[in-house]
Amino acid sequence: MPTIKEPSREIELKKSYDVIVAGGGVAGVASALSAAREGASVLLLERSYMLGGLATSGLVTIYLPLCDGEGRQVSYSIAEELLLESIKYGIEDKEPTPWLNGGTLEEKKKCRYEVRFNANMCAILYEQLLKKNGVDIMYGTSVCSVKVSRQKIKAVIVENKSGRYAYGCRSVVDCTGDADICKLSGEETSLFKQGNVLASWYYFVDKGKYDLCMLGFSDIPDKYKKNAEKEDNRRRYGGVDADELSEMTINAHENILQNYVEHHGKCDKDTAMASIATTPQIRMTRRLKGLYEIDDTEMHKFFKNSIGMVSDWRKPGPIYEMPFECLHGEKIKNLITAGRCISVTDDMWDVSRVIPVCAVTGEAAGLAAAMTDNFCNISITKLQKKLVNRGVILHEKDL
Ligand SMILES: Cc1cc2nc3c(=O)[nH]c(=O)nc-3n(C[C@H](O)[C@H](O)[C@H](O)COP(=O)(O)OP(=O)(O)OC[C@H]3O[C@@H](n4cnc5c(N)ncnc54)[C@H](O)[C@@H]3O)c2cc1C
Repeated sequence: MPTIKEPSREIELKKSYDVIVAGGGVAGVASALSAAREGASVLLLERSYMLGGLATSGLVTIYLPLCDGEGRQVSYSIAEELLLESIKYGIEDKEPTPWLNGGTLEEKKKCRYEVRFNANMCAILYEQLLKKNGVDIMYGTSVCSVKVSRQKIKAVIVENKSGRYAYGCRSVVDCTGDADICKLSGEETSLFKQGNVLASWYYFVDKGKYDLCMLGFSDIPDKYKKNAEKEDNRRRYGGVDADELSEMTINAHENILQNYVEHHGKCDKDTAMASIATTPQIRMTRRLKGLYEIDDTEMHKFFKNSIGMVSDWRKPGPIYEMPFECLHGEKIKNLITAGRCISVTDDMWDVSRVIPVCAVTGEAAGLAAAMTDNFCNISITKLQKKLVNRGVILHEKDL
């Protein structure tokens, strides 16, 4: 492959923040909010012009459950606040009435605490929430490099309409979904081996009814597949290659068009293709390989360093305590992750990548980032105390 030498250049160091959050998906929103509430100066960098990431511009509008499917709520604080914020002006679908109106345990057992929200409304409401809490938001701004010195990120280098420049930082939260900042800074990462099947979700209006069409459901981990399923040879996508992502996007568009024409035929004033995703709908890509990788077999396990709990959206019962060590590595001391790129095994990823988990890990990562610039030395007891004061329940035994 031929190469060219890029000229080196001096760039402006614009401003410094206590905490820089890279990526404004649900994890980034939760992290930024959490850090700001702890009194940190916070900058959120988002390459698109909308908050929410996959949940909004990816049209993944189902805020999966905060409960265990057996009537017990397991995820609290910002995870619940963001769910409620997303439906402030109404619920698109899946009204969890017993949870919102104080139902009985029996009623809650029959209904999971999940909602389908409106993507556009949600993006605007999250933006207002962050602004109200003093977070600076830079849209249209991609993190493209980092300046590392003595195992710490000293500055984050960005590109946007104004060109290329840097922001100084004390700590960084990687909420890019693909562990981009881990990769750029030399922290350990791993890739999702199985690859992703094509998803082509879109919104449509048919005779005045607005609805979501979900083409391409979640795959199951290889180890749970029966023989026939193992022979599934659908095209898979890894998600960290620009050519492949463009191809995937074009294939998804082709699917959407075909499906829309087949079912609705045309567009007119009552029938329309309402929206398509403006971010690639890819589930698992690259993640941190941190101090601990939690596995899906570790349900109901007590973790002394838990930062909160999450459930399994796929079935009632399992509860996972999430250890702090899943959020950081040891190579880059002031870098922490949240959301779908935290440190888990391939099999756990199907549980941990969903919206409530992004919010739970986002809150802990943002708070930790406001407290320290060395995550290996943080006082976990102090972090846990602050989380508990906010309403987080850390251990299953305390439910
Ligand atoms: C098809 C599909 C269906 C799904 N179904 C559900 C579901 O029903 N319910 C559910 O709860 N979950 C579902 N998920 C999973 C869930 O939507 C996502 O995993 C979750 O929203 C991820 O949040 P995040 O904040 O970690 O990452 P993302 O939403 O990916 O956000 C990352 C953000 O970072 C920005 N970014 C990335 N790189 C940079 C950079 N270098 N500089 C600046 N900004 C950057 C991106 O633009 C984006 O806004 C689904 C996912 C897919 C793909």
